[in-house]
Amino acid sequence: MKSIAFIGLGHMGLPMARNLLKAGFELSVFDLQPDAIDSLAAEGARAATDARDAVLGAEVVISMLPASRHVEELYLGENGLLAFIQAGSLVLECSTIAPASARTVHAAAALLGVELLDAPVSGGTAGAAAGTLTFMVGGEVAALDRARPLLDIMGSNIFHAGPDGAGQVAKICNNQLLAVQMIGTAEAMALGVANGLEPKILAEIMRQSSGGNWVLERYNPWPGVMANAPASRDYSGGFMAALMAKDLGLAQEAAQASASQSPMGNLALRIYGELLQQGHGQLDFSAVQKLYSPGAGSALAQRLGTAANDGLE
Ligand code: NAD
Repeated sequence: MKSIAFIGLGHMGLPMARNLLKAGFELSVFDLQPDAIDSLAAEGARAATDARDAVLGAEVVISMLPASRHVEELYLGENGLLAFIQAGSLVLECSTIAPASARTVHAAAALLGVELLDAPVSGGTAGAAAGTLTFMVGGEVAALDRARPLLDIMGSNIFHAGPDGAGQVAKICNNQLLAVQMIGTAEAMALGVANGLEPKILAEIMRQSSGGNWVLERYNPWPGVMANAPASRDYSGGFMAALMAKDLGLAQEAAQASASQSPMGNLALRIYGELLQQGHGQLDFSAVQKLYSPGAGSALAQRLGTAANDGLE
């Protein structure tokens, strides 16, 4: 049986680790939040005292951390973890981070004889719990073949995006598109409701019409339209708006680096920036709907400039 170290047990990492545990793997788990460790320890995982302790004897290391700086700090910082992972081990780095950061960690791992894949995910907390995530993998095909039995437990769609860092490029393209869909859906919901439509009826019409999209299918931002969506539990759980803003920033960096045009991504970043400015960064990203509530429009318009102001006032 493979022994696995799992580091980062937040909204995503905890249910992903739980699925591996349920499948019978030996897990050593670590997070900066002791509660997360305790809940998995109660289910049979070994509670590690720190990340170095977690990787002792592990054949596979999986990390699910917030952003590039956490990943670089964990693997490459002072006492960087890579030095403590045995040669020949496999690292699945599942956080969404800058492609350049992923490539830096890939290169450092290769020097130490550790196989590493960037393997960011899509599918949200529901997909993490159900084991139906989509993995977008960057790195060697042989390493992916080795990882596949574990990825198959945590996910149902496993894509090889290309070489080192390619998984992260795919992920930021996807999340930029998701943000644009979320904002567009929130804007359309607010428009319809302000003009007298009942939110559930409007949502269903658009879902089955040419505006249909993933947000309307599974993640409607209007409270009460979908019982299981974060919008119906005060935007708690799910995917934090601050993380979406991070991903949109990564997409803008990639656009600049490749001289790609990205006005929609740029506007989405500014809209999420306003949501964070209003103190909602810890809420699910569907909380962007709040910017469309009566009165909130003027702050959004001010932030986005005169053209948006004309439309919003
Ligand atoms: P989260 O903030 O809920 O979890 C991150 C966890 O990492 C926290 O529990 C934190 O304590 C822990 N952590 C941070 N630094 C650490 C360290 N040095 N050692 C150990 N633990 C550490 O975030 P999340 O929602 O689980 O997202 C994780 C990653 O997955 C992010 O990169 C995010 O962009 C991506 N993602 C999230 C979702 C989603 O729906 N939440 C979907 C797809 C991808």
